Amino acid sequence: MREKDCIFCKISSGEIPSNTIYEDEEFRVILDLAPAAKGHALIIPKEHFADIYEITEEVACSAMKLAKRMAVHMTEVLGCEGFNILQNNHEVAGQTVFHFHMHLIPRYQNAKNEDILVWSHETFSPEEMEQIRDMLKQE
Ligand code: AMP
Ligand code: ZN
Repeated sequence: MREKDCIFCKISSGEIPSNTIYEDEEFRVILDLAPAAKGHALIIPKEHFADIYEITEEVACSAMKLAKRMAVHMTEVLGCEGFNILQNNHEVAGQTVFHFHMHLIPRYQNAKNEDILVWSHETFSPEEMEQIRDMLKQE
């Protein structure tokens, strides 16, 4: 299923050209237009899901399997020293394209922009941590 006016539907279907590094029936993997690092790529399912809440478990599993394969391949070819896999959901979390995608970000020693993905830390009291734990606990 495609969504009208969705840029990643158009890219994943091939309607809009992209720097594709992998394609199969379910996914297209492209180079990010504004890379955080050399080789920064995006795994895009061909079916339209807005985010992690909409995507099926099956497609999410396939996306993660592909991320594993791509990370190994990209690390070998690029010679990067590390790797981030990132996936944003909703504007408040940094999502700007509302078609599910996973970022594959190679990391290099001595990179100019080492502060990609660095966040400050919040503090919660032990009581608050227990409350949060109890609220979130699943059987
Ligand atoms: P997010 O902020 O997680 O929604 O990520 C969206 C990503 O898509 C950003 O890193 C953009 O640079 C990238 N992006 C947006 N439009 C294009 C495009 N036409 N081709 C390749 N990457 C794109
Ligand atoms: Zn879409």
